Amino acid sequence: MKKIIVCGAGIGGMVSAIRLAHLGFQVEIFEKNNYAGGKMGEYYETGFRFDTGPSLITMPYVLEEFFKETGRDIKDYINLVPLDNACKYFWSDGVTFNAYTEQIKFKDEFVSVFGEEEYQGFLNYLEYGKFFFEMSEKNILQSEFRIRNFLTAKGIKNINKFISGKSINDLSNKFFKDPKLKQLFDRYATYNGSSPYLASQIFSIIPYIEFKYGAWYSEGGMYRIAKALVRICGEYNIKINYGHELTDITSASGKINKCIFTIHDEAQKSVSEFDIMISNFTNNIKLTGKEYFKTGDWSSSGFIALIGFNEVSDILSQHNILFSEDYEKEFIDIFEKKIPADDMTVYISVTGKSESNDAPAGAENWFVLVNTPALSDNFSWTDKHKYEYFEKVIDKINSFGIFSGDIREKILFSKIFTPADFLKNYGSEFGSIYGLSSNSLFTMFRRPKNKSDNYSNLYFTGGNTHPGGGVPLCFLSGKIVSEIIRDGNKNSY
Ligand SMILES: Cc1cc2nc3c(=O)[nH]c(=O)nc-3n(C[C@H](O)[C@H](O)[C@H](O)COP(=O)(O)OP(=O)(O)OC[C@H]3O[C@@H](n4cnc5c(N)ncnc54)[C@H](O)[C@@H]3O)c2cc1C
Repeated sequence: MKKIIVCGAGIGGMVSAIRLAHLGFQVEIFEKNNYAGGKMGEYYETGFRFDTGPSLITMPYVLEEFFKETGRDIKDYINLVPLDNACKYFWSDGVTFNAYTEQIKFKDEFVSVFGEEEYQGFLNYLEYGKFFFEMSEKNILQSEFRIRNFLTAKGIKNINKFISGKSINDLSNKFFKDPKLKQLFDRYATYNGSSPYLASQIFSIIPYIEFKYGAWYSEGGMYRIAKALVRICGEYNIKINYGHELTDITSASGKINKCIFTIHDEAQKSVSEFDIMISNFTNNIKLTGKEYFKTGDWSSSGFIALIGFNEVSDILSQHNILFSEDYEKEFIDIFEKKIPADDMTVYISVTGKSESNDAPAGAENWFVLVNTPALSDNFSWTDKHKYEYFEKVIDKINSFGIFSGDIREKILFSKIFTPADFLKNYGSEFGSIYGLSSNSLFTMFRRPKNKSDNYSNLYFTGGNTHPGGGVPLCFLSGKIVSEIIRDGNKNSY
């Protein structure tokens, strides 16, 4: 039986491990933190619970398939719950828009806020997203990245749409007149850590997926998903070695033959009894190669504030966006100047709207997220900068009148995470959420492939590799890697 070691117990790492154990491989995981889940985490403070990473699930069918294909019923592990309102959007002039997930309710809201003509533009936009989704779902999202996968008859006929150089923002300009709608649809580029002014129109599949499959959350909190994966690892006797940070490797004849781990920041341990290695991260230059680190075109990171309030807001939904005044300037700050935007768009997720246990009665748990650049020499998150930025974000929220008066007076506690914490906690390149950004189509070619070009027994899984970031795509990444390994080792496990 072949032995596989998986480094990293994020979603992609655990999904790969489970799928391969299900196929009959012997699998062991090594994780640098003392917990599993990676970017999917949670935080507790005095009666409050917060998800610290993902807050929204799209493509629930991908998660359902994983459970089914490993012989399980998802309901025995997690309960995915559809949201009635995918997101409530706020603009500074007082306009709001609820993206209801029920079609008639959505249309009524859309027409009343933006008008009938814009609704037709919305339907045309979705057709575009649908086209890209149907072209890519099986051939790209569910398969190993290969140029030939694009070269179907339909793909060749429509090649101009793929390589047109048009951005998400170009697409918004094509279909919408209202600047608010353009901003709303441009925001989807941030789902993969990119700028709408640079990322390809292909990513119109993101809103298409959200509108088609809805917005979901996991009952009891997103972290239940990570916990479910840990439980399944136990069911397959997959040992997770916590506190094991991969610090070096050795290789011979194009194969990795030894992994060196630093255990709990102290002792070192070498592991050489394995045939195949899977990495759930791309931060190690020996694994990814120098070229990968050359571009510096990293996806965005985040500034997070977990805030406990002693009051409940009537006007917030579970997911909320408070938009900045000048969206283009915000992205110039983030991706060109590489500094935190002065006037920022603020995302607020309040799981307490669905989960009564997430905050005490009469109180509310806010997960506040602002997109920021990955770490660079242009800005450093000193304590001073961190608290100054927090004040700016609070001022911005105040300007929307979420609570009457200054929200500072209602804050019981706050806990801040910056890109420097992302780097420390997840080991992701320069604190970025998704590794390389998708600001250029060429990124697809520069990401480490699921099967390494550098070593014959090395594979990559997770959001920084193919097919990309976000929880469902990490599940797909784990699937793709397990299938490549299965197909390459047919008679030997
Ligand atoms: C703030 C935030 C909000 C998000 N919101 C959403 C959302 O709403 N919806 C959504 O679908 N997605 C969202 N995402 C993205 C989603 O969380 C990630 O794409 C996904 O969880 C990444 O999984 P992964 O498999 O890439 O592993 P990661 O989570 O990146 O985990 C990698 C693991 O490897 C470990 N590791 C790193 N280096 C080493 C080493 N040297 N040795 C050993 N172990 C190591 C890390 O500790 C970590 O456990 C969000 C992410 C963040 C940070």
